[in-house]
Amino acid sequence: MPELPEMEIIARRLGEALPGETIESALAPGVNALKTFDPPLQALAGATFTGVGRRGKLLTLAVDTPLVLLVHLMTAGRLQLYPKRASLRDRTSRVLLRLPGDRELRLREFGTRQAAWVKVLRPDAVEDDEALLGLGPEAWPDPPPLGPLLDAPRPLHTLLRDQTVIAGVGRTWVDEILNTARLSPFKRGDDLSAEEADALRAAMISELGRAIEHYEAKVKLPLPEKYPKPTRVHAHQGEPCPNCGSVLEAVFYEDYVMSYCPSCQTEGRVLKDRRLSRLLK
Ligand SMILES: [Zn+2]
Repeated sequence: MPELPEMEIIARRLGEALPGETIESALAPGVNALKTFDPPLQALAGATFTGVGRRGKLLTLAVDTPLVLLVHLMTAGRLQLYPKRASLRDRTSRVLLRLPGDRELRLREFGTRQAAWVKVLRPDAVEDDEALLGLGPEAWPDPPPLGPLLDAPRPLHTLLRDQTVIAGVGRTWVDEILNTARLSPFKRGDDLSAEEADALRAAMISELGRAIEHYEAKVKLPLPEKYPKPTRVHAHQGEPCPNCGSVLEAVFYEDYVMSYCPSCQTEGRVLKDRRLSRLLK
């Protein structure tokens, strides 16, 4: 799933390309992708893009009529600008915004699940939309002090991915952030010292910033299908820890793999799945 750094680079690149472009027509071949019906998608025809923004893992595309498209790519969505329009047989197409010269801004989604979505909103309804209303503060570039924010009896790994607590971090970047901060994924939020909360905040800023800098240098239009994430910990089990050189370990947690360094994060303990479930009770 794209997280804050990936959405940030998509917002920047589309923000360079779209303003001034006029939408010729709008279609939603993936009927489930469009979550609003008033204003209708067709209201975008003739409108000109004015700007692209990001909030958490969501994108906002503003047009001059004025309307705002709120987009969530979820796990498998891609929002891309194509030089040619999609074939109507393309089963991955969810929402198509046709631009002059046969070009197209296309929301695609791979796999069988239809989770990615678009809402067409009036500007005054955007901030009150349930998708934004519940979001915590931005994880980057300037998150608030994390001590009060994470003051709950829940593991850091869960708290940091909870978009209502802090917006933008998911299962990839949480591993990088916790490793840089040298904190156990299972340390409880309400058990953080002031120094640990400061270190965690600094790690969040530096890791998300490092990813964005990487994409800034590498990602050009047309936007790629995949973003090779500049990770050093997530899914790098068996490789050396970027902090201390010890071997990184991984453990299954819920339905995914979490990577960490026993030496710098868990006082040498290698987390076992069975043990984990007991820890979490
Ligand atoms: Zn380490």
